Amino acid sequence: TKFVYDFTEGNKDLKDLLGGKGANLAEMTNLGLPVPPGFTITTEACKEYLDSGAEPAALRAEVTEHLDALERQMGKKLGQADNPLLVSVRSGAKFSMPGMMDTVLNIGLSDESVNGLAQQAGSERFAWDSYRRLIQMFGKTVLGVDGDLFEEALEEAKRAKGVKVDVELDAADMKKLVGQFKEIVAKETERDFPQDPREQMDLAVRAVFESWNTDRAKLYRRQERIPGDLGTAVNVCSMVFGNLGPDSGTGVAFTRDPASGHQGVYGDYLQNAQGEDVVAGIRNTVPLAELEQLDKTSYDELMQIMETLETHYKDLCDIEFTIERGKLWMLQTRVGKRTAGAAFRIATQLVDQGLIDEAEALQRVNGAQLAQLMFPRFDEKAKTELIGRGIAASPGAAVGKAVFDSYTAVKWSRSGEKVILIRRETNPDDLNGMISAEGILTSRGGKTSHAAVVARGMGKTCVCGAEELEVDTKRRCLTAPGGVVIEEGDVVSIDGSTGKIYLGEVPVVPSPVVEYFEGRMHAGADDADELVKAVHRVMAYADRVRRLRVRANADNAEDAARARRFGAQGIGLCRTEHMFLGERREMVERLILADTGEEREAALAELLPLQKGDFVELFESMDGLPVTVRLLDPPLHEFLPDITELSVRVALAESRKDSNENDLRLLQAVHRLHEQNPMLGLRGVRLGLVIPGLFAMQVQAIAEAAAARRAAKGDPRAEIMIPLVGTVQELEIVREEAEQVIAEVERAHGVELGLTLGTMIELPRAALTAGQIAESADFFSFGTNDLTQTVWGFSRDDVEASFFTAYLEKGIFGVSPFETIDKDGVGSLVRNAAEAGRATRPDLKLGVCGEHGGDPESVHFFHEVGLDYVSCSPFRIPVARLEAGRAAA
Ligand code: PEP
Ligand code: MG
Repeated sequence: TKFVYDFTEGNKDLKDLLGGKGANLAEMTNLGLPVPPGFTITTEACKEYLDSGAEPAALRAEVTEHLDALERQMGKKLGQADNPLLVSVRSGAKFSMPGMMDTVLNIGLSDESVNGLAQQAGSERFAWDSYRRLIQMFGKTVLGVDGDLFEEALEEAKRAKGVKVDVELDAADMKKLVGQFKEIVAKETERDFPQDPREQMDLAVRAVFESWNTDRAKLYRRQERIPGDLGTAVNVCSMVFGNLGPDSGTGVAFTRDPASGHQGVYGDYLQNAQGEDVVAGIRNTVPLAELEQLDKTSYDELMQIMETLETHYKDLCDIEFTIERGKLWMLQTRVGKRTAGAAFRIATQLVDQGLIDEAEALQRVNGAQLAQLMFPRFDEKAKTELIGRGIAASPGAAVGKAVFDSYTAVKWSRSGEKVILIRRETNPDDLNGMISAEGILTSRGGKTSHAAVVARGMGKTCVCGAEELEVDTKRRCLTAPGGVVIEEGDVVSIDGSTGKIYLGEVPVVPSPVVEYFEGRMHAGADDADELVKAVHRVMAYADRVRRLRVRANADNAEDAARARRFGAQGIGLCRTEHMFLGERREMVERLILADTGEEREAALAELLPLQKGDFVELFESMDGLPVTVRLLDPPLHEFLPDITELSVRVALAESRKDSNENDLRLLQAVHRLHEQNPMLGLRGVRLGLVIPGLFAMQVQAIAEAAAARRAAKGDPRAEIMIPLVGTVQELEIVREEAEQVIAEVERAHGVELGLTLGTMIELPRAALTAGQIAESADFFSFGTNDLTQTVWGFSRDDVEASFFTAYLEKGIFGVSPFETIDKDGVGSLVRNAAEAGRATRPDLKLGVCGEHGGDPESVHFFHEVGLDYVSCSPFRIPVARLEAGRAAA
């Protein structure tokens, strides 16, 4: 294997091997842009080093060969006493990764070559400043010396001289600092700062390799789901200097605004400085546009290069550059990060410029960005008082009174207050508090902390790990860095999309994107929001190419109507149990308590017209589109009072000798229906088989509702779905009964209703025997919630709040399998069942209605395995449409 590539040898598609930085440096070099010469050590070398604990045997010779070539090209030698070549050593993984070693500049300087550099540059001060930077950076990142020790010495030097900034220190000061820095290194590491330039370089390269496995880097990878075995490349690049005087400098630039997508001149420039000065904010930068006055030639060249890069990469690029005595050098470029809104705008702008086509535009955005744009947000025009920042863990804008424990959160929210639950970190005991809160704020923990995982699961706004905030739960207050103290009851506003925390109430405005989907804002209007126009166009691209249809999980006319506005092509799951809540619960209670056939029939007869009414409304709001109605699914005890509460009530009544007959019967029924594992008990199709008349009543209501809609000249397209089927026999029995009921209704009304009858596939056995089940089913709808629960043996109602944090932290999975489909396990059952079902019945309709139907990554999977549609909650429909388009493009 070849371990080292000259910049002239690589290209932008070699990110796996050369890392992002190296691949793009090579690309720029080959575009003829002014990149300082250099070479890249591959990720393969890093991987070998990490596997074996030593550099690959061939590496040293290859580096020597490339270094020789570089020296010949530059006409000087690394660290040569009179005319030294200096290099930078920079890490560069495939994905940019905070937590890894970044950069060591000025490698090659030593007690000898510092004089050569002084002569070369004509500046003593510059040379000694460069040397002290090398010892500082090298000491900190390569030798692991505490960086504060250097900073303190530097501060002390400024204090002693009575100056504020380090440019005011002269050559003699710098020389003295070099001495002190070398002493720090010697004391802290028990070795001298290495004087051999090649040793400096080799040690720096090794430090980059090793930085792949720092705790921070590992944590970041887990959170961002970056594989742990990619390794990093190392870039060795000849130095150019931005700190050689006023005709030098360094800056960053974007080819267009990463916030709005607008083209223009965006960036910052710092005169007479090296890269890390910009990042460290030592002096104030000036807007890039001012470079035009400072150095017109370099400015014009930079503009030219930016245009070249945009047309070449066909995307927004960000850039780091340096000007050395009036000569412009490109140090880095990459396709730039952008806000969610800018992603949509840029995608359509690039289509308009003819740089990309619609299919490519779809790859430039994603469902997570669209989801982000759909959350309500804080009014940008509002005056705010920012008091801190944490990790944006779960998006949204939440305002409420600060509370510091779950008990108070629940109590206050019961009395109608909006609260923000503030904790150092949360644990399962905080669950009720989290449910009652508008938002959750913690000072500890990252994106996989308990607070973050649970809040995301609940769709609740959360900012976590705001480490600069001190949370004191005993005194019930929070102290922000500026000294601002927030006490219980004070109003705070938290932004889960940016991680920002504000004092007081920040006004919330609805998302313009939701206003658009709701039809309250029109993309065609002249004054329409630019973002809305862009979203409208991208959605049209997606709708044009997607194969998957998108339906909604909805059980009432209001949700159905919204779903339709959001682009739903039918209902994929109407959970009829949601129609038995409120005052109807008692009717179900009567059904459960019925001792005789007459009592039961009376209870069913009471429910029938109500059910029919529900369905009429639903079919009307989805007229012309399929509506899948699922027969009753949950265990019946869910309709009965809580066993403990009822037992107490009955015992109390008995002690007062006025026990109530109904309560006694109820308690008996509760005991009778009590199950250790209700989710594995009497529910789904089993209810239909055990309770005479229940499913027949529901089927009759569906059929009569369809007949009524027909009579009203509507176009009802009902599909009847049986839940929790494990074997074809269950389905056959239910089917036979249902067909009789339907036939009777059809006869009575003199119509053919075209009703179809299918099943959910949500048990492993159903998936494994899908070929047989398809004999009796017109369609399958994968219930991936229960399927995940039963395949993993994870209780869907408990695990996310209890031990998933630990699982995520240990990297057992990168995301909850209830959120993104587990392709290898649950997914392979889905794939096989789909194939087996279609083998039996080629026209079998296939869909999914578990939560995964609205999850971006899962949607791609369902596209791939050939389902016909996904069904998800109304608010996720645009995301599903977009991702279905992206999957097909
Ligand atoms: C499922 O199990 O995936 C499903 C859609 O049904 P429910 O969530 O109602 O159990
Ligand atoms: Mg289910």
